Amino acid sequence: MDEIKVLSFAKINLSIDVGAARGDGYHPVDMVMQQLSFHDDVDLKYIRNNDGTRGNIDVQVKTNRYYLPTDNRNLAFKAARLMADRYGKQVDSGTVRIDIKKRIPVAAGLAGGSGNGAAVIHGLNVLWDLGLDLTKVCLLCAELGSDVPFSALGQAKANYIFPKPMRKDPMAASCARATGRGTELEPVEGIRKPVVIAKPSISVSTKEVYQGIDSCEIVSRPDNDKLVEDLAAHSDGAYDNFINVLEAYTLDHYPAVAKLKQVMSETGAEKVLMSGSGPTVFAVYNHMKAAMSACDKLRDKGYEAYWTKTIK
Ligand code: ATP
Repeated sequence: MDEIKVLSFAKINLSIDVGAARGDGYHPVDMVMQQLSFHDDVDLKYIRNNDGTRGNIDVQVKTNRYYLPTDNRNLAFKAARLMADRYGKQVDSGTVRIDIKKRIPVAAGLAGGSGNGAAVIHGLNVLWDLGLDLTKVCLLCAELGSDVPFSALGQAKANYIFPKPMRKDPMAASCARATGRGTELEPVEGIRKPVVIAKPSISVSTKEVYQGIDSCEIVSRPDNDKLVEDLAAHSDGAYDNFINVLEAYTLDHYPAVAKLKQVMSETGAEKVLMSGSGPTVFAVYNHMKAAMSACDKLRDKGYEAYWTKTIK
């Protein structure tokens, strides 16, 4: 088998707390991340050279978004390069062709790029029959970026690789608490509710938000211990700790995001919160019908909006 399709899912943050920047510039985080079923498609093809050599592997990336880089700045490319450099000797020589059909908005706080990186690592693990377990996959993902290991965990839970599924792994989880640089993961119970994600037509730089957050006054922080407890008990009390401290910067500096949050709060949602550093805002509903109707209303108002579910 030399060709597979991997679904690469988006995430939202049910909470984010951020500490002061450390010496290396990184802000330690304590956050709960939830995988959604909204996804990009990542098609992977491996074409063998059949010339008897080993370890000489090329990578080619194509996407349906003309503005995305397809070279070493693309996380899917980086992931394939990492796998080829680490495991190429085991798989003779040839070309990895990656075709990404993007649906997840880019630079939106939904970890779309991170998901693509994780999808390529999972995919090549299966395509090349490497037999790496999820712990090893997550370690490789951590070399690519902070959100990538969580994407790997959630993708393993959903297990959408066609035609051959990946190995089942007890560590697989669609929701996790992430600490440190966001790469230390503890699987937790997630939410099982319809979700709408929406974004205004602006971009927000994650770097700018993290740099700006140090000088913001944070009025409330999530109690992540309590959040995890409430999620485990399927209690609506969990919503009290759906708090994202990065809102303190983004909502203040990007009024379009604050306005969207306000608009979404008036659609009958149980909870509305910004995801990541923004500009995407998500809303949780009790019924899919309510989510779909809210999504229509947001589109009528000119927002890019999608209804989706969480991965169970
Ligand atoms: P995260 O939550 O992981 O920080 P995000 O949702 O805020 O991510 P992404 O969609 O991952 O943002 O994109 C962030 C940047 O990564 C973009 O500027 C984009 O150019 C770059 N990027 C690299 N590879 C990809 C990819 N495969 N898909 C989307 N963006 C990518």
